[in-house]
Amino acid sequence: MRETAAGPRLLLRRLRELMAEPLEPQDRLDRIVHHIAQNMVAEVCSLYVLRADSVLELYATEGLNPSSVHHAQLRLGQGLVGTIAASARPLNLSEAQKHPAFAYLPETGEEIYNSFLGVPVLRAGRTLGVLVVQNRTMRQYREDEIEALETTAMVIAEMIATGDLARLTRPGIELDLSRPVTISAAPFNEGIGLGHVVLHEPRIVVTNLFNEDSEEEVERLEGALGSLRLSLDDMLSRRDVAFEGEHRAVLEAYRMFADDTGWVRRLHEAIRNGLTAEAAVEKVQSDMRARMLHMTDPYLRERMSDFDDLANRLLRMLLGHGPETLAASLPRDAIIVARSMGAAELLDYPREKLRGLVLEDGAITSHVVIVARAMGIPVAGQAKGAVSMAENGDAAIVDGVEGAVHLRPTADVEAAFAEKVRFRARRQELYRELRKKPSVTRDGVPVELMMNAGLAVDLPQLAESGAAGIGLFRSELQFMVASTFPRAEAQERLYRDVLDAARGKPVTFRTIDIGGDKVLPYFKAMENEENPALGWRAVRLTLDRPGLLRTQMRALLKAAGGRELRVMLPMVTEIAEIRQAREIIDREVRHLSRFAHHLPNTLKLGAMIEVPSLMWQLEELMNTVDFVSVGSNDLFQFVTATDRGNSRVGDRFDPISVPFLRLLRQITEAGREAGTPVTLCGELAGRPISAMALLGVGYRSISMSPAAIGPVKAMLTELPLGTLTELMDDTLNAQTCEKDVRGMLAAFAAENDIPL
Ligand code: PEP
Ligand code: MG
Repeated sequence: MRETAAGPRLLLRRLRELMAEPLEPQDRLDRIVHHIAQNMVAEVCSLYVLRADSVLELYATEGLNPSSVHHAQLRLGQGLVGTIAASARPLNLSEAQKHPAFAYLPETGEEIYNSFLGVPVLRAGRTLGVLVVQNRTMRQYREDEIEALETTAMVIAEMIATGDLARLTRPGIELDLSRPVTISAAPFNEGIGLGHVVLHEPRIVVTNLFNEDSEEEVERLEGALGSLRLSLDDMLSRRDVAFEGEHRAVLEAYRMFADDTGWVRRLHEAIRNGLTAEAAVEKVQSDMRARMLHMTDPYLRERMSDFDDLANRLLRMLLGHGPETLAASLPRDAIIVARSMGAAELLDYPREKLRGLVLEDGAITSHVVIVARAMGIPVAGQAKGAVSMAENGDAAIVDGVEGAVHLRPTADVEAAFAEKVRFRARRQELYRELRKKPSVTRDGVPVELMMNAGLAVDLPQLAESGAAGIGLFRSELQFMVASTFPRAEAQERLYRDVLDAARGKPVTFRTIDIGGDKVLPYFKAMENEENPALGWRAVRLTLDRPGLLRTQMRALLKAAGGRELRVMLPMVTEIAEIRQAREIIDREVRHLSRFAHHLPNTLKLGAMIEVPSLMWQLEELMNTVDFVSVGSNDLFQFVTATDRGNSRVGDRFDPISVPFLRLLRQITEAGREAGTPVTLCGELAGRPISAMALLGVGYRSISMSPAAIGPVKAMLTELPLGTLTELMDDTLNAQTCEKDVRGMLAAFAAENDIPL
């Protein structure tokens, strides 16, 4: 093994020297192909580079006709070279001409060569070109020769990616790497962001490619693999891992991969061929990714993403990179591109530098999206392939209105979007004007527009949005962004700040709603749950851990001294839970008054309607609480049995449909009969069309993200609510459930000049 590996090692050393020399790019390439040919005892070595117009152009050759350089061309998929590029797999042929894809290029003079070995030039799974060696004799290239050529191709990939070859391209022609790409996505949060890509958990750029001593590198690799396995074991044994069933499955798959002998063997081979441990990880990963890109089986592709993550973890272990290094180097206009992300991770980025968020996964109601919305960041979700198509530093546009991501946009696309941004700014100005107008429908019905919040960063929005108050304060966000349970004083301080900022406007605090997809990594009491959305969460958890609820209630009661305190309970399933919570609260009130604390002047207790069982206890519910608030995100998830965080099904059914609107109407009717105020604080409230549907079924108070208040108010001030209510009643009372309510509402808006 050592003898055969000596060749590639020598070659890599020579290439390293060439890379360091101050040469013109063409000169450097010419020497590179010369050395490869010499080292591999091949008569020909050629490099083809993929251009943005899907043409592979000959960039350098040793052995073929030199005048064909920059002239010989093949389309992607055409000829042997085009086949390699399209499939991202090597071709090893002893009689090249016999291959069905062989295409004869007379200008190159290659017809005299029989054997052919070509490998794709890959970077992060993308094909950037093809590297070929040829011999006159009919021979089959050995495994180690293929390996050596692939390793060499990786060095060339770096050259292409760093822009070294861009100087060799003719004017008007671009390399594929810089090709503009548009990815269609789902609009998860309104707004348009222009900026530069920051890959979340970025693919680490490996700069140190060649090793000095392979034994040492193998040791480094083994060390890192050992720590990786340990860290995965550690994560798996942590109870909170099972918050999301999928999360655990992924980790288990990782753990399996970390022991995968094929993977480890390939890593070792790459090191023996002269690479550093980190370059070996990147090479093996890149080859694998490229192969998997052509697989259609979604399960296998998903597993590939796991492998990617694993490789990234391994790279980070080898290089000692932490997330801190990233924040420091963040551009001023960052567009974060991630496969998926936790809410807390987004908050690690400084808000003032964020212009947009691109997610390959997630759903509109997942928590990172809710946080992004609270922060006013445009989000495009389900942007498939975004992570592998984007490079750090690429110019990018997030279109959270139409749902698209434009990578490396052309100047005219960029100009068009810059104009849109200006237009939106003017519209925001209009919304600001609207802020002063009363919130009443065209036919004079007042509607309360409240905002959702959860963090101190949200507070300035209260004045800016013109909200009538905070309809939902997600108190768990403070817990989610902390690394340990927030102390009682910290809780009290936040609640006091919130009430101060509200200046007498109503604020409804929701008691901590953790569990489900809201993870507190430090809360070790969480069990592994098969089905966490239906598990130990929200009020169930706080009733079982009354210490949590007591501390929070005490903080709330103190913070609201002399003012109104409104508290609501999440995920209530039965009335008894409200009674139990009330007992705990009453005990806290008594405790504080015994110590002569300044208590709130009124205390209102409400329940969220999120669990369908409450629908059959509506009357009792309305008589038990001071108000109810519909959590339409969870309610819809449970009514339709669709996981709100699962992008496959999260948006499958439309809440603006007869059955769900009938249910929502039933709640307002029950509230009216009992004289209990009803509000709704899920994402439905924040889109003008769904907000219109809510008004049509009787809601007079809704709570939404602050950015939605302007558009919703613009809708409602033009809305003839009486006419709409009649239309909705007719629709919901009809015998059929299949009416297209969304379409009907859009038509109604168009007829009545209602901006949606
Ligand atoms: C809801 O479920 O609609 C809701 C408002 O709560 P959350 O989105 O925080 O679960
Ligand atoms: Mg909820």
